Amino acid sequence: MSIIDSLREAWPVGFPVMSAVFGAITGSFLGVVVERVPAMVREEAESDNLLFPGSHCPVCQHSLSAWENIPLVSWLALRGRCRKCRSAIPLRLFLMELVSALGFGLTACFIADAGTLFSLWLLAAFLLPLAMIDWRHQLLPDCLTQPLLWAGLLLHAVGHTLPLQDALFGAVAGYLSLWLIYWAFRLMTGREGLGYGDFKLLAALGAWCGWQALPLILFAASVSGIAGYFLFNKLNKNNQTISFGPYLALAGIGVFVSQLFAFTY
Ligand SMILES: [Zn+2]
Repeated sequence: MSIIDSLREAWPVGFPVMSAVFGAITGSFLGVVVERVPAMVREEAESDNLLFPGSHCPVCQHSLSAWENIPLVSWLALRGRCRKCRSAIPLRLFLMELVSALGFGLTACFIADAGTLFSLWLLAAFLLPLAMIDWRHQLLPDCLTQPLLWAGLLLHAVGHTLPLQDALFGAVAGYLSLWLIYWAFRLMTGREGLGYGDFKLLAALGAWCGWQALPLILFAASVSGIAGYFLFNKLNKNNQTISFGPYLALAGIGVFVSQLFAFTY
């Protein structure tokens, strides 16, 4: 029995609560990823990385003290504003902490196997910032899509639910299918309909879910993407570029979760 299983048995209510707290802390770190990685990728802020400089207000540079840096609590206590200059702390940072806390807490209630639970959390911890970064910047950084692909292959190499070759073919077929669509669209219309980041993200999802899941992921992403286009186009008139990444991410995690329940329950 693993440490996690013993912990869970000894403390059945505490385990989901602890998972939610871990989710909030993870969400807080993912917020840093979403805020900093685009500038790091574009080399706008060469000296910055995920750990340095420490958390600070981007407007007045005020360094956050420990109590201003508590996930969920600080944003609420400060009413979403910097303590020094009163400029707004983006709501998305609070929402990422909230979604992660709820997601980790709820999945801890329903998924019994610790390995499965951690693999789902790991997938979510990549897809959430990828979706947010693509939504805001039309960018799916390699520094996130590539480790996600390797993690999917490693997961199945150490005996998760799929044979490793399904994951491997999934990675290759995921990349190639969107690459073909990209070139077909480009030759027919002369325009670029997708970005290379989309190919890499679908390759990663193919590694996590297997090649058999790719048609379903693409179908679900396209349907939700079309729905999202009509829903958000009104809100966002100036921005005619739609990001496909958030919809791929949503479809990918949906399919992965449905596979977990199909395989293990
Ligand atoms: Zn400030």
